[in-house]
Amino acid sequence: MSVRTRFAPSPTGYMHLGNLRTALYTYLYARKEGGTFILRIEDTDQEREVPGAVQIIYNSLKTAGLTHDEGPDIGGPVGPYVQSERKDTYLPYAKQLVESGHAYYCFCTKERLEEARAEAEKKGESFKYDKHCLHLSKEEIQAKLDAGEPYVIRQNIPTTGKAGFDDVIYGHVEVDCETLDDNILIKADGLPTYNFANVIDDHLMGITHVMRGNEYLSSAPKYNLLYEALGWEPPKYVHLTPVMANAQRKLSKRKGDPSFEDLLSQGYLTEAVINYMVLLGWSPRGEREFFTLKELEEVFDLEGLSKSPSIFDTVKLNWFNAEYIRRLSPETYLEHARPWLNQMLDETKFDYKRLCELLQSRTEVFNQLPEMVDFLKEMPAFDNELYTHKKMKTNPEVALDALTRIRPIIDGVTEWTEEKLHDAVMEAITEFGMKNGQMLWPLRIAISGKMSTPGGAFEIAYLLGKEETMKRLDASIAQLQK
Ligand code: GLU
Repeated sequence: MSVRTRFAPSPTGYMHLGNLRTALYTYLYARKEGGTFILRIEDTDQEREVPGAVQIIYNSLKTAGLTHDEGPDIGGPVGPYVQSERKDTYLPYAKQLVESGHAYYCFCTKERLEEARAEAEKKGESFKYDKHCLHLSKEEIQAKLDAGEPYVIRQNIPTTGKAGFDDVIYGHVEVDCETLDDNILIKADGLPTYNFANVIDDHLMGITHVMRGNEYLSSAPKYNLLYEALGWEPPKYVHLTPVMANAQRKLSKRKGDPSFEDLLSQGYLTEAVINYMVLLGWSPRGEREFFTLKELEEVFDLEGLSKSPSIFDTVKLNWFNAEYIRRLSPETYLEHARPWLNQMLDETKFDYKRLCELLQSRTEVFNQLPEMVDFLKEMPAFDNELYTHKKMKTNPEVALDALTRIRPIIDGVTEWTEEKLHDAVMEAITEFGMKNGQMLWPLRIAISGKMSTPGGAFEIAYLLGKEETMKRLDASIAQLQK
């Protein structure tokens, strides 16, 4: 049977990184097996609906390169692919389950349920519906339905015995039925709950492998009872271990952790994020770490999926990003860097091409660029102590001497290139009998005001231009003389 997988996000308004990873694994497995990757929008919780959220899902998948073969926007043989558009699909199955005794109508009021919930809480127990409405007679039910009383349909979980399922990662999972609650399958608004819709849709859409977060692990036994009751073959389950922010908690947008969109707008490269995320919970065979999506489509397998949670590590992600940035062509680097540089600089005043050559190997994330080049825009205030550097054998006194002596030499450079500046200054250093660092360190500080800059004194002087370099040099000498 050909593999069919699905990514089934709820429209929350952003792509959680855990979801991105699920989408990635789901996509890769389908591709690896020559199967079909389906996008299904799970929007039955209409209170949580966020406008524009579905578009964000399309955009994120498109950016990530995870093209679906069937989905709301492109159709397919088992549509519609949006659950709210499948509204009428679910009730007949719920009624079938009522007929067979696997589900029942429940007319309990909010008040009654709240009371029962409060009662359970008082006793320190978790709430479980008491099957109150299971005991209504056929006539009573019909009378209530005829009277138009609001109802839900609940799953009738056996009170004894066990329910279980097989999971590719967790193995055989089994629980005592008495621990399970009679879930609502159809809500008062006529829409199915996730608990019901996922089973019906996965079956009707012919899904062979259900890959999703392990928060659904504890509910999966109930889903399996539904498959059994409907006489359907359950899919293979692959419950993925969570992506953690740290040892204590999962990654969470509400706690300030970034979404996929956040990372991209901070200046991470899509390819780097994908490469990092795929390894966060999956190990390839061998030592290799760098993969394009195309390559992953060939090597991905379920065996490499991790059995323990993974911690999202910004340092490692930055490392990946820096590697990917280094591999960009200079032109592509400039394209990415330009909007960030423009936040700080006026492109007509600086040689961006040269600046980018200096920046590329030093860039971890593009959002670091404005701060890396801020000194070009404006000379920052700095303390003369910055001239003190043990290894370079400099201090403010050495600096004043060096700068005063080099000033006329630099002023004499007429063709303002790095090469000419280099030659003139290096010649002078030899002539003065100084150590390179005793001149170059103070010079760079004097025209940048910073300890660490992309490029050294010559590169910076070149980028600033002669007029600005001389202006800064004079101001710094004056500051040393005070
Ligand atoms: N709609 C669910 C979510 O966004 C998906 C769960 C599933 O894949 O079955 O968490």
